[in-house]
Amino acid sequence: MEDREILKQTAALLVDWYAASRRVLPWRESPTPYHVWISEIMLQQTRIEAVIPYYSRFLAELPDVKALAECEENRLLKLWEGLGYYSRARNLQKAAKQIMTDFSGELPRKAEELKKLPGIGDYTAGAIASIAYGEPEPAVDGNVLRVLSRLLAFDDDIMEQKTRRRVTEALRAVYPSGEAAALLTEGIMELGETVCIPSGEAKCSLCPLRDLCRAQKAGTVDRYPVKAAPKPRRIEERTVLLLRCGERWAIRRRAGKGLLAGLWEFPNEPGALGADEASALIPGALHCAPCGEAAHIFTHVEWHMHGWLIDCDGELPDCVWVTAAELGEVYPLPIAFRFFRKYLEQEAGHGRADKVDKTK
Ligand code: SF4
Repeated sequence: MEDREILKQTAALLVDWYAASRRVLPWRESPTPYHVWISEIMLQQTRIEAVIPYYSRFLAELPDVKALAECEENRLLKLWEGLGYYSRARNLQKAAKQIMTDFSGELPRKAEELKKLPGIGDYTAGAIASIAYGEPEPAVDGNVLRVLSRLLAFDDDIMEQKTRRRVTEALRAVYPSGEAAALLTEGIMELGETVCIPSGEAKCSLCPLRDLCRAQKAGTVDRYPVKAAPKPRRIEERTVLLLRCGERWAIRRRAGKGLLAGLWEFPNEPGALGADEASALIPGALHCAPCGEAAHIFTHVEWHMHGWLIDCDGELPDCVWVTAAELGEVYPLPIAFRFFRKYLEQEAGHGRADKVDKTK
């Protein structure tokens, strides 16, 4: 059977399958353009279960484009705290402002128009256009590429843009419109998330496409998708300083560009510094004690962090000094510092612990 015929039959099967077996998720209950947009941006690089509470909290406070456009930036980042990739939140707001000025507060319905907004690429534009507006526009992400590479048994590297373009065009040629477009977009994603899953775990016996699927019929499912190995991440040692003066703790704002741009952080320095080296960085350091080690993985770099808790005899300039409660309520702190934030909260709850005096 030709690729096109397989895809045509796949579309019809998935529309029916999804209508009958969809999981209940908050953003599916009322798929307005705004709801689809927010959920799709949150779901980039983040698991569904992790997104659900963020999505509900976000919509309770920012229920529409206007509220998002007008939200104070620190508050927006606080609502995003823990989801990571904060440029997503900033782009959401930039796009919301543009939607208010250029589109009277309504997201445009055509994928080409949507793609002109900050943070909206081919995939998100396709998802909003098809799910919220019923446009015949596919949304191709890693799940869709995996399903199609097995279904059609193609050997092209799914990490390459040209493969994505080819799959998008092939799907667009058979895409329905109206409600079926929404069901098909959701259906392919759902199949990739629940049935045609990665790492040799595909549940072909439950799959509505099993009689069409070339890889399944040839017994070669594990060969697909073909995917170039990612570049290894760079490992970076860092020393994190929990600086305490009385009840207050030091935080500072990161530079406006680069990794975690503009977010708050505990002071930290490159390298794995010893107690004497860490204390020497802080004028007025009284006591210095280890406060644990943690690692955090970003897309291209891995931080290996070594912490020191340092009591200071005064509040250093260049930092903002806050209580543990203020840190929790007001300042967005990236998840990379979660371990040290928990340590700080425990310390703040228990008062001052015994310390090794490293400065004597
Ligand atoms: S039959 Fe198996 S490999 Fe083919 S699409 Fe379905 S789950 Fe994926």
